[in-house]
Amino acid sequence: MVSIINSVFITFIKLLPRSLVSIFAKQYVAGEHVDDVLKVTKKLNDSGYRVTVDILGEHFSDQNEIENIISEYSLLYKLIEKNKLDANISIKPTHIGLDVSYDYCLNSFKNILKTAEKYNNFLRIDMESSKATDDTIKIYGELAKNSFNAGPVFQAYLNRTYSDIQNIENKEKLNFRLCKGIYKESPDIAIADYYEVNKNYLKILEYAFQNNIYIGIATHDKTLIDQCYELIRKYNVDPEMFEFQVLYGVPMDDYLKKHRKNNYNVRVYVPYGKQWYEYSIRRIKENPNILLYVLKNLFKQ
Ligand SMILES: Cc1cc2nc3c(=O)[nH]c(=O)nc-3n(C[C@H](O)[C@H](O)[C@H](O)COP(=O)(O)OP(=O)(O)OC[C@H]3O[C@@H](n4cnc5c(N)ncnc54)[C@H](O)[C@@H]3O)c2cc1C
Repeated sequence: MVSIINSVFITFIKLLPRSLVSIFAKQYVAGEHVDDVLKVTKKLNDSGYRVTVDILGEHFSDQNEIENIISEYSLLYKLIEKNKLDANISIKPTHIGLDVSYDYCLNSFKNILKTAEKYNNFLRIDMESSKATDDTIKIYGELAKNSFNAGPVFQAYLNRTYSDIQNIENKEKLNFRLCKGIYKESPDIAIADYYEVNKNYLKILEYAFQNNIYIGIATHDKTLIDQCYELIRKYNVDPEMFEFQVLYGVPMDDYLKKHRKNNYNVRVYVPYGKQWYEYSIRRIKENPNILLYVLKNLFKQ
């Protein structure tokens, strides 16, 4: 019954005006401006969490807009350093030109990576839909020829992922994030079954542990996290060889406490920017208690 009410509500939420959605969006997005994300990052750092910052936006094709975004990413690295924050940056390839061309996007990444290196920081290449997988892995390979200050994301729901990771060169220098994957993909290429996705997730995690690869364990699935804990213990993995990662605003307090009790590092993915609407709708839709959550936020005002 609850899930029926929730799915009716999901349809309804898309009809709400942006001003109303912004009330619920606050939980998932730091704000619209650089200052907002710096404030949230500082607060999270003070509570013991690392951060990865993301400027919201994807599928940009206007080259002036892309150049502005590249400048903003470069400025972010500078401000992270200036404010002594513990944060790196996550970037979607289609935000900085993959829809223009592969070469243009590679060049954009090279430019931003230069700044990341200058500040001894790190660039995470987010993984988008399967249309971008080949290019994204290729971009990582090109960047890795000169620098290991960048790392890709792999999605456990794709059939190809395990062998993609096996095929990466210089695996001892690889630093990747593992997530389940968020895009709608064809059953020809992606696993749909919850248990099978989790099985593949654990298989990939085990591979990372066996091969001393640094891994960002990005999931809110508590059953899966318990199984990750078992693997960490089985391989007695050094806590400096992995970190747990969560999205800003997803309620995980019990597990965040558990991670800290175990001295495991946690990184929070904090997005900000003008394009907050689509991202927030996606997050709100993933909330299993959507109706309760929306009502609670309404009455908090
Ligand atoms: C740090 C980070 C980075 C990511 N980067 C990428 C990426 O580059 N590419 C990509 O394709 N995907 C990315 N994702 C998204 C990921 O692929 C999943 O779609 C998303 O995390 C949901 O899957 P899950 O592993 O949390 O497990 P699920 O089984 O989907 O969810 C587990 C539980 O989490 C809770 N939950 C999830 N979302 C919410 C919410 N909004 N509010 C309240 N509770 C919630 C629910 O209780 C749910 O039952 C990222 C996720 C994280 C955490």
